[in-house]
Amino acid sequence: MNATSSLASRRVLLLMTAKTYRAQPFVEAAARLGVEVLKAIDMPEPLAEFWNYPLGIDFGDLEAATRAIVELATRQPFEAIVAVDDNGSLLAARASAALGLPHNSPGAAEAARNKHRMRTLLAQVGVPVPDFRLFSTGDDPRDVAAQVGYPCVVKPLTLSGSRGVMRADDPEQFVAVVDRLTSLLRSLDAEPAPKPFLVEQFIPGIEVALEGILDHGRLKVLALFDKPDPLDGPFFEETIYVTPSRLPDAAQAAIAGCASNAARALGLREGPMHAELRVNAAGPWIVEVAGRSIGGLCSRTLRFGTDASLEELVLRQAFGLEIESLSRENRAGGVMMIPIPGAGLLRRVEGVAEAEAVPGVEEVQITAKLNYPIAPLPEGDSYLGFIFARGETPDRVEAALREAHRRLRFAIEPSIPLLTV
Ligand code: ADP
Repeated sequence: MNATSSLASRRVLLLMTAKTYRAQPFVEAAARLGVEVLKAIDMPEPLAEFWNYPLGIDFGDLEAATRAIVELATRQPFEAIVAVDDNGSLLAARASAALGLPHNSPGAAEAARNKHRMRTLLAQVGVPVPDFRLFSTGDDPRDVAAQVGYPCVVKPLTLSGSRGVMRADDPEQFVAVVDRLTSLLRSLDAEPAPKPFLVEQFIPGIEVALEGILDHGRLKVLALFDKPDPLDGPFFEETIYVTPSRLPDAAQAAIAGCASNAARALGLREGPMHAELRVNAAGPWIVEVAGRSIGGLCSRTLRFGTDASLEELVLRQAFGLEIESLSRENRAGGVMMIPIPGAGLLRRVEGVAEAEAVPGVEEVQITAKLNYPIAPLPEGDSYLGFIFARGETPDRVEAALREAHRRLRFAIEPSIPLLTV
């Protein structure tokens, strides 16, 4: 029996946010599998109705949102709930538990969303993580600076995409970094209450990203990406991801083992998993584990079996279909998340056709909007766009991505600070 016939007349509820890039690939994957899609969006009900979303819910209000999903299930039953990105993962877990659908437990989803909880659980069972301590933006940064070792990394607990993550090499830098994080967190929250943040020992080494899928607690590694640009700070901008990894087999096996132990420690058992690890002479270290698939448009680099997407695998697993036989295509693939070089208004983008003409480059997609303000890390939360490449070897893919990036030109008009009197 093929997947389509076995999934006919089955439904999935997709939890999505208004800003996500991930909804479309899931909708396409569902169409390929013949699964009907219900969509719930993190949006006030009237606005959702206006945009024809059957369910507009506040993902932040987990109780009410879970009730709304349970109620929807009585009218239009569905067999799986999939959060298309991180923001819906807690709700997907809660609502699945309420409906008795297979999913990660709410506790595991919570642990994967909170960097302090994650570090605590991993350290308890001996999964390699850096030393860490929790502080508050209400503490005097000079006192805290005297209590931590250097170099260290300061980070908020629940933001993503390296937002607010900064390295400090000495107490003076530490105070500046904490001030910057405090301003960022204040700008994101109407309430001026102090916020917790984490200080970790800086782990030197190279970095990789592991994309996997958990099925009854067993990790299937779908792809291991090298991140060939050094990530040494002071900010940690993602750029190039290339798969397959060029690391020796033994190192790759150690990375997979470490990621699998981390998932077990957090209680993640079902569905996609994305892990970031550092690797040095001491072996692999967990930077982060998330119970979701790779973000942005990056999943486009991956194809499995006979041209299945990553999202198809996620849906197959959610419906209990086998995924074991589906392995990644043989060619190398990669993506560059195009970093934002400076704050301002994006006025012009040139060179897209020249960049797409680079052999191996499949597509350049500029996602930043013209004439809108953009900001680099650590405050920013987006990229200028994505470059996708495929080739015979990872080295060729990496070279193609770099050459395409060299051909792109971005005119960014620096913002003029508002005069205050
Ligand atoms: P986010 O969830 O915002 O991506 P992470 O905790 O994954 O935050 O950190 C973002 C990036 O910062 C990592 O991919 C890594 O490059 C760097 N980083 C974070 N913590 C450390 C650390 N302790 N040592 C070295 N680099 C780190």
